[in-house]
Amino acid sequence: TEELIIQSEKLSVIGQLAAGVAHEIRNPLAILSGFVQFMREEKISEEYTGIMLTEINRMNQILEEYMQLAKAKPFTASELDLTALVKETLVLMEAFASLSNISIHYTMQADNCMIKGDANSLKQVLINLIKNAVEASEQGSKIEVSVKRTSGYATIEVKDEGQGLAHEDLKRLGEPFFTKKETGTGLGLMVSFKIIELHQGEITVTSEPNTGTIFSVMLPELNNNK
Ligand code: ADP
Ligand code: MG
Repeated sequence: TEELIIQSEKLSVIGQLAAGVAHEIRNPLAILSGFVQFMREEKISEEYTGIMLTEINRMNQILEEYMQLAKAKPFTASELDLTALVKETLVLMEAFASLSNISIHYTMQADNCMIKGDANSLKQVLINLIKNAVEASEQGSKIEVSVKRTSGYATIEVKDEGQGLAHEDLKRLGEPFFTKKETGTGLGLMVSFKIIELHQGEITVTSEPNTGTIFSVMLPELNNNK
């Protein structure tokens, strides 16, 4: 049943992301159709074809990532680079955040953070945390995501300047069906905590009402020299 719950939550998050992805793909498409107009009038230049290719690649990247996540896959652990995984996930989440005029700032404080884990599940955790951060934030605010290394752990931090959590709510995070949202499921954090537990990792939360929240995900780092 654990797997079933993870699966159903995955579908609902993916469904909600669809709006963001569609939005993000509309812009490059508009740019491309403009250039195609130029081509028609034989005004095409090297510079324009370069921009066209960049925009096409961007759409491909978003769609590829999106489709990979939507596919149902069993949990399989492999060696992976956490910084690369975070960057891939941000491509999706920037689209979702931009719907609320929220920007995501990424700082990489360590490159090549190798860990052992299931890429799709870990992406799902990051999606849940960033989605919550967006939903807790006001239009125009920013979210900071970072990856760093601390004593044997690779840590992903998701920091927002949103509404924050009262002490009594903080204690309830991860409880199944605990939600304060009208259309919330209260499953996102429960599933995320489970996934991190399966990775022998840890999630910590620091929050202050009306100031913001920081979620830290710590994952055991693989020894690079081995
Ligand atoms: P849902 O998002 O469907 O409500 P979650 O398990 O993802 O379910 O989150 C549970 C609750 O925790 C949310 O309803 C919200 O009240 C609170 N929460 C989670 N993340 C944040 C955050 N970054 N800032 C403020 N509140 C949060
Ligand atoms: Mg949520």
